[in-house]
Amino acid sequence: MEPIYLDNNATTRLDPAVLAAMEPYLRDRYGNPSSVHALGRAARAAVRTAREEVAGAIGAAPEDIVFTSGGTEADNLAIFGIARAAGPARRRVVTSSIEHPAVLEAAERLEREGHDVIRLPVDGQGRVRPDDLANALRGDTALVSIMFANNEVGTIQPIRELARIAHARDVPFHTDAVQALGKTPIDVDTLDVDALTLSAHKIHGPVGVGALFLRRGTPFEPTIVGGGQEGGRRPGSENVASIVGMGTAASLARSRLASDPHRVRDLAERFLRKLRATVDGIELNGAPRDRLSNCLNLSFEGVDAEALVVSLDLAGVCVSAGSACSSGTLEISHVLGAMGLSPERARTAIRISLSRDTKWVELDQTISHLERSVTRIRTIGGDAGIPSSPAKISYRFR
Ligand code: PLP
Repeated sequence: MEPIYLDNNATTRLDPAVLAAMEPYLRDRYGNPSSVHALGRAARAAVRTAREEVAGAIGAAPEDIVFTSGGTEADNLAIFGIARAAGPARRRVVTSSIEHPAVLEAAERLEREGHDVIRLPVDGQGRVRPDDLANALRGDTALVSIMFANNEVGTIQPIRELARIAHARDVPFHTDAVQALGKTPIDVDTLDVDALTLSAHKIHGPVGVGALFLRRGTPFEPTIVGGGQEGGRRPGSENVASIVGMGTAASLARSRLASDPHRVRDLAERFLRKLRATVDGIELNGAPRDRLSNCLNLSFEGVDAEALVVSLDLAGVCVSAGSACSSGTLEISHVLGAMGLSPERARTAIRISLSRDTKWVELDQTISHLERSVTRIRTIGGDAGIPSSPAKISYRFR
């Protein structure tokens, strides 16, 4: 039986058209884009086209796109690259408390190096308050990094307003838009951001490739050195096949932006309506409106999220949970915690994330599985007698 895959914020299925675009570069077109001969030129042209496609999806100039090994590297590159370039007189970095670990841990490292890191709180829906940002900025601020859309709850931040506040104090603004691409329009000029992170595998592209939009003129110090690839901003021989895949995925996402998000939102809303009519004690975590329409973070009263994830997994349904039980201590999601959810409610939260591949029949079946699992766990309590499985190792959101 095919699994019902509802974990698309973690990763998405490779689009067959993306695979087809990549294949020649994994087989016969293996030239190094830096080589002068025909195979090299063909690879160089393919990377150029992909750069234009990625740039086109966010309204950027192709020269401002830096390919990386994924969203994590692009976040690291933006944070280390911009903060370190600001010099010793600018040691403050402002971010939010609900960022992806790729940003939070980069900020933590800067803190250990002597930077002053401010993590802004969020409201109960997961939104940064613009006034909090304005109050955190000082003359010595090197960078602001606030994510576009959260991976756990889907809340979208008022990026344009936040960037305006940062720029009023001459501070560069970076946003992690990994979860936003393909789900909501992104235009780097309208948003007026200086740096923006993307990842291919969240938009039906390959894993292990991403991009940083880095606006010309933004102070930046490369974190790795070597050959001059990517304008010296991220040297290393290009991962041509994956870059081609990312370009194709970005171009498909762009052309589908007028239809896919609406269809997915209708599916998600229909699912939530029917689920609420079938199962009681459900709360939606995150913003009811300004949110990614594909993502439902739901708390099931009295139901341990890990037990529910395992129970659904046994029924062939793939979702994620927001709490991780490692070595006997229960870790609550830092996002739900920052939103002020009680540990009890956070412990019962699962994330269901749809994509353009999701079909109503799968969601309908998931409701039946959820009804059975929730009833059993509520009746029996604890882990409902579910045998331990290898899948129990990790329930951290990605
Ligand atoms: N930022 C956000 C918001 C994400 O959801 C993810 C992926 O989980 C990343 C960054 C990291 O991207 P990648 O998996 O490409 O390193």
